[in-house]
Amino acid sequence: MSGKESNKKILLHTCCAICSGHPIKFLRGLGYEPVAYFFNPNIYPESEYLKRVEAQKKLCETLNCELIIEDYQPELYRGIMKGFENHPEGSERCNRCFELRLLRTAQKAKELEIEAYTTSLSSSPHKNFKAIRAIGNFFSDYFKINFMDFDFKKQNGFLHTIKLADELKLYRQNYCGCENSMRVKS
Ligand code: SF4
Repeated sequence: MSGKESNKKILLHTCCAICSGHPIKFLRGLGYEPVAYFFNPNIYPESEYLKRVEAQKKLCETLNCELIIEDYQPELYRGIMKGFENHPEGSERCNRCFELRLLRTAQKAKELEIEAYTTSLSSSPHKNFKAIRAIGNFFSDYFKINFMDFDFKKQNGFLHTIKLADELKLYRQNYCGCENSMRVKS
């Protein structure tokens, strides 16, 4: 993508508040109006999900960003993970997790007649950007909408998003989200 886009909406899948502060500001800098979309059935347990939802609300209220929150639907995550539960972090397990979240985001963009979507997942240095981009582009072709493949961690984006989260005193999780990632940390 090149040049400034003018006042176009973009559906921003937000994996958490920490990772999405910088993307919201970055997209606005390009002339987009991001609509944040919190769809993360990977998060375990529900109490953790609710903490991350509250942090996302606080961020979006502060930045005056429209926010759509999906209900907690862990059965969706469990369904696609059958047989992959014990695969290590960064493997096909995480790719399936990205697929689930980006598929629903692309569907949602289509429903809302928003012509482009992207994801805050790329803010994290722990996530495989090539995999995210390939999956985003796949659903882009399927749904005939644009996937904007921003690598948000670049150009100090990761540091910026952490700084914003610290300034706003946002809740900061210490594991990626799923039960498996929680066990590894504890
Ligand atoms: S480690 Fe993170 S990206 Fe990987 S499956 Fe778990 S929640 Fe999803």
